[in-house]
Amino acid sequence: DAKLKTVLSLFSPVASKLDALSSNGPATDANCVKLNTNENPFPLPKSVMQSAIAAIEHQYLYPEDDNLSLRAAASDAYGFSKDQVIAGNGSSELLGLIYRAFLAPGDRVAMLSPGFSFNRKLAMLQGAEFLEIASSEAHPLPIEKLLSGPAKDAKFILLANPNNPTGTFVPVAEIERLVEQADRLIVLDEAYVDFAPDNALRLVNRHPNLLILRTFSKSYAAAGVRVGFGFGHPEIIGRLRNIQNVFNMNVIGQAVGKSILAHRHAYEENHRHIKHERQRVTLALLQLGFSVTPSHANFLLARVPAGQEGSCWQAALKEQAILIASFPDVDLKNCIRVSIGTTEQMDKFLAAAERVCMNF
Ligand code: PMP
Repeated sequence: DAKLKTVLSLFSPVASKLDALSSNGPATDANCVKLNTNENPFPLPKSVMQSAIAAIEHQYLYPEDDNLSLRAAASDAYGFSKDQVIAGNGSSELLGLIYRAFLAPGDRVAMLSPGFSFNRKLAMLQGAEFLEIASSEAHPLPIEKLLSGPAKDAKFILLANPNNPTGTFVPVAEIERLVEQADRLIVLDEAYVDFAPDNALRLVNRHPNLLILRTFSKSYAAAGVRVGFGFGHPEIIGRLRNIQNVFNMNVIGQAVGKSILAHRHAYEENHRHIKHERQRVTLALLQLGFSVTPSHANFLLARVPAGQEGSCWQAALKEQAILIASFPDVDLKNCIRVSIGTTEQMDKFLAAAERVCMNF
C-alpha cells in the first residue's frame, strides 16, 4: 500500500541497490548431501556439546560483556595478549566490522580474486568501490598488482589463505613479503588454515599492519553456533571492538568457543580424515576427466569435463540430491566447488558425478 511504498522509498540508496541484487544464498536441503558451503561433516565432540547444553541453562542472563573470557582463552591458546584478540559471530561479523571501520562512501578496497564473494556485498554496503585483483594458479599472490595501480588507493587489502574458492595455499614467507611492502592493513582470512601446512599467526607480533581472521565454522565443526576471531595489533583490535554490538555473541557461542579451545586436540582425527578424503576425491575426479586445483582447504575446485558449465553440473547433481557450489558470475564458469564430507557422502558425490558424466 501507499505507506509501505513510502517506507521502502526511504531506504538508503545503498540498501535499495542491494535489495535488487539479493539472492536467497546457498541452498540447504535436509534430504540432500550438503557439499556447497564447506562445513565440517562431523558433529561437535561430546565434551564440547555438553558445554553448549550447560550454557543454555544460563541464557536468562546476558552473555559476558566484550567476550572477555572467550578472548582470554583464545589469546592463551594462540599465544597473544587479550587486547590482540576480538571475537565475533563467525568471521563474517568481523569482516563486516572491518569494512565499517575503514570505508566511507567512495573509498576503495582491494581483494585478491577469485575470493570469498561476501566481501563484495560488504563493500557495496559501505558505498565503497570493490577492486578485484586477479590471481592465477601460476601467480597466486601478485604482490605488485596488490600494491600498485588502482589498488594503491585501497584502504585495506583482503586475501584468504588458503583461498576460497580455489583452495590454493601461498607460503607464509610470501604473505610476509606482502605485509612488509604494504603501507596499509592486510586482512588475512585464515578460515581454512587448519587444513593447510602452515599459518601466519607468528607474523602478527612482527607487523602492526596484519590482521588475521579465524573461524570455528570449518575445521572446528561449529558453523551453526557462529564463532570467529581476529588477531592483530591492540590499537586496531581496540577500534574494531569499539564499534562492535554490545553482547554480540550469545552464551552458547561463547561457551562452545571456549570449550573448543580447550579440546582442540580432539579434532586431529577429524582433520586427518578430511585431508585424506580430499586426496582420494581429487584422484577420483581426475579419473573422471575433471582438472582439479591442488587444495589445502576442506573443498576442491574442479573444472568439469569437456567445457560444460559448472551451473549445469550443479543442477544435474541437485537432481541426484547432492548440493555443490558453482560460480556463474566470475571467471570460473566451468568449475564446481565441492566440500569434503564423510567418506559416505563423498562416495555418493562421486557416484552421482559419474552418472552425470555419462548423461552429458
Ligand atoms: N572467510 C572465508 C574465506 C569463507 O569461505 C567463509 C565461509 N564461507 C567465511 C570467511 C565466513 O565464515 P564464518 O562467518 O562462518 O566464520
